[in-house]
Amino acid sequence: MGLSKTIWTTPSEFLVKNEPDSPVMFFSPAVLQATARRFIDGFPGLVTYAVKSNPNEIVIENLAAAGVRGFDVASPDEIRMIRRLVPEAALHYNNPVRARSEIAVAVEMGVTSYSVDSHSELKKLAELVPAEGCEISVRFKLPVQGAAYNFGAKFGATVELAGELLREVARLGFIPSLTFHPGTQCTDPAAWEAYIHAAADIARAAGVQIARLNVGGGFPSHRLSDVMPRIEATFALIDRATTEAFGDARPALVCEPGRGLVAEAFVLAARVKAVRDGAHVFLNDGVYGALTELPMIGVIDRLEVRGADGTLRTGDGVSRIVFGPTCDSVDRLPGELSLPADMEEGDYVLFRGLGAYSVATNTRFNGFGDLGIATVLALHG
Ligand SMILES: *Cc1c(COP(=O)(O)O)cnc(C)c1O
Repeated sequence: MGLSKTIWTTPSEFLVKNEPDSPVMFFSPAVLQATARRFIDGFPGLVTYAVKSNPNEIVIENLAAAGVRGFDVASPDEIRMIRRLVPEAALHYNNPVRARSEIAVAVEMGVTSYSVDSHSELKKLAELVPAEGCEISVRFKLPVQGAAYNFGAKFGATVELAGELLREVARLGFIPSLTFHPGTQCTDPAAWEAYIHAAADIARAAGVQIARLNVGGGFPSHRLSDVMPRIEATFALIDRATTEAFGDARPALVCEPGRGLVAEAFVLAARVKAVRDGAHVFLNDGVYGALTELPMIGVIDRLEVRGADGTLRTGDGVSRIVFGPTCDSVDRLPGELSLPADMEEGDYVLFRGLGAYSVATNTRFNGFGDLGIATVLALHG
């Protein structure tokens, strides 16, 4: 993956000068830092970044410059990278299943916050991690709706098991906390409310006062033009629900957004390789590249098409089936996309809001996926 040193004015300036035949991600440090400020100023607690959503070093450095001081990490490699780039940052090792060798690296690197959702993993932590000054957050799950896909399918203890684990964490001398993840691209703020009330019930029933409540990631990005994410309303609801649910025993709050922080800071430009017999569109990027997530969580309709000379295609929208470049038949975007009638071979389709789970999960399958990154002053134009 190439990282350009030049800062371009806009995506079109880059596309006209370079006419790239490989997909390009345009990155706006200004948009990333403004989004980080929006979370830091609005969220009633500590904002940490879920590194997996986009671990590119320019992302980490710009988040740190904007004031992000905590990171949700899931592996020794992520721990080492954050220690190197932001040495003073708090690291929350919130992947609830870890090999003993991975725990040993975390202890050596000074990680003092872990999550857990089972007795067997808590036993491992108790054997390897010194309890003094160290937090263990019990991750629980509820059968609630609202997210694009369900995170409870893999991780999270039931409410009953969470109570047992919380008591055990406190008995072992760790700092007891609770955590949940409502599911990614969670557009219903009521999901957080249900989780926060359940957290208070778990702590009360266990007779344990929790130090912190980590309300997860899941904050939605802007994917469909007419569905605006309600971030500030969600922050306000989280604040109110925490006071209502916990009263005098209100814990400090933590959030760990990935998508919500990074998605808007990137625009993908994919080139039109062919409009086959005037019908199907073939792009040079698809579901094995930066568009991996679309079949799982749906299309993005925030797009525009530009000619190789930079002109915006303004023809009426025509529904098209869109394929990626590989020879695999699943390499197709879900449903159909509305694309301008005057679109041609050699044009670029620009997808907005693609910073999360795109750069990180891009593959080189079938020899494609040579994804470039170009820094721009503005993502529009
Ligand atoms: C992936 C993940 C996140 C980030 O989720 P988003 O939906 O991208 O905000 C946060 N916390 C944990 C534990 C995760 O696994």
